[in-house]
Order: sequence, then structure tokens, then C-alpha cells
Amino acid sequence: MTKGNLLYEGKAKSVFETSNPDELLVYFKDDATAGNGEKHGIIQGKGVMNNKISTFFFKQLKDRGIATHFIEAVSDREMLVKRLDMIKLEIVIRNIVAGSLVKRLGMAEGTPLSVPIIEYDYKSDELGDPMFNRWHIMALNLATINEMNAIEHISLSVNTIMRSILKAKNVDLIDFKLEFGRAKNGEILLADEISPDNCRFWDSETQEKLDKDRFRHDLGGVEEAYQEILNRLTL
Ligand code: ADP
Ligand code: UDP
Repeated sequence: MTKGNLLYEGKAKSVFETSNPDELLVYFKDDATAGNGEKHGIIQGKGVMNNKISTFFFKQLKDRGIATHFIEAVSDREMLVKRLDMIKLEIVIRNIVAGSLVKRLGMAEGTPLSVPIIEYDYKSDELGDPMFNRWHIMALNLATINEMNAIEHISLSVNTIMRSILKAKNVDLIDFKLEFGRAKNGEILLADEISPDNCRFWDSETQEKLDKDRFRHDLGGVEEAYQEILNRLTL
């Protein structure tokens, strides 16, 4: 595998072409943004930790029958993945009330939901990632009904698997964001990353936040929180 041209420079990752047209190299950066890019900072070592945490989850999911874009980690900050036709949606799965749901539902942070909630956000920096429902998605031809059914089915399985892995490490999975894409044969695959950047992780006993909320809300101990999640999962 040879690293090729930069295909896309994202907020947290850069994506490179490779000598294989069906594979991409994802480079995990230390850059962090919040509030739709209004807040920017560096979380020292985040790229290395997120590459390792994502690798851990993608391998665990594969072992439990979930197809993902992950091929292999090729360095501390680089992951080789299948090149997908990305669906321009962020799929948010919520188990416990937190973040923007506090205001929207008028419920206290930390309130358990009786069933997981699935939400769609349209991936558009210009529009500020507005929340969509199935009708918006169909109207904009972002995904078919069959694809949305597959995405929701996989997302709920990922939620069940991740909750059980994390519970054994004394971590509660509050909510998280997934992205999906289409493989060459049309199959829907889980893509992007699974890390404290896009998940809310709370210590099961103390409810301490072990994720990007520490950066978003200037709580301090940001690097330590990412390291703690990596340690609990892999040590
Ligand atoms: P953003 O685009 O929000 O700034 P990142 O910095 O994480 O996000 O950039 C990574 C980009 O790579 C995202 O746009 C994501 O949708 C895309 N991506 C993730 N996995 C794949 C894949 N397997 N094939 C093609 N693109 C992917
Ligand atoms: N999330 C994400 N990217 C986004 C928005 C949200 O990864 O652009 C994740 C976030 O880490 C959390 C979940 O999605 O785990 C739900 O986020 P929420 O909508 O509550 O985010 P907020 O609006 O509070 O930033």
C-alpha cells in the first residue's frame, strides 16, 4: 500500500488515496472543533488515541458480525479502510438524555430513555448539520428506505454491542454518532470512527465525563479522559 494524494481534509481527520483505488488511508489529527467549528483547539495525542480506540471497536464489531470499512491500522495515526460512497448523514443513537436533548425534551441530563432514540443530522457545515427525518432524507435522495432500514438495524446492534463491552469496563454509553457508506456492491457499511470525539462515555459509578464534552465545556483533563477510555478498553 502506497500513500497517495490528499482526497479530503476534515476537521479531525485527513483522508488520502492509496495505490489501491478501492482503499483509503485515514489520518487521525489532534485537532478538535466544537459548536459547528466555532471553537477550535488541539487535544495532544488525540489522533493516536482515537485511531487505537476506533480500531478496538471496529475489531470487536467485526467479531460480532457487523461489517465495517476497517481493514487495518497501519501506523499510530493511520487506518486503512474500504473506500465508500458516503451517505451524507450523521446517525445519532441515544440511551440517556444529554447534550442537545436536554433542551429539546426538557428533561434533566442523565435521565435514562425507555428505548434508544435514533436521530438523523444532515452533514452540511453550511447549514449547521440540521436534524432530518426519513421524509427529508427521501426528498433529497440521500438514502433509500431499504438503506435507512439497514442503517437503523446496524446502529441498534452496534449500540447493544458497545454498551455491553463498555459496561464491563465500568463505562456507560450515553449517546454516539455513526456514519455509513455504500460499498461497490451496494452493501451498507459502518464507516468513519468510534471514539470519545463522537461518543459520550460516563464512568458508571461517578458519572464523570470521559469524552469530548470535557473539551466542549472547558472541564479540563481532556487528554486524560481519552487516555482513560483507551486504557480501560485495551489494558
Ligand atoms: P468532517 O468531514 O466532519 O470534518 P473528519 O475530519 O472526521 O470529519 O473527516 C473524515 C471524513 O472522511 C468525513 O467526511 C467522513 O464522512 C469521511 N469518511 C469516513 N470513512 C470513509 C470511507 N470509508 N470512505 C470515504 N469517506 C469516508
Ligand atoms: N456528535 C458528533 N458530531 C456532531 C454532533 C454530535 O459526533 O457533529 C455526537 C456527540 O459526540 C454525541 C452525540 O453525537 O455523542 C449527540 O450529540 P448532541 O446532538 O447532543 O450534540 P450537541 O448538540 O450537544 O453537540
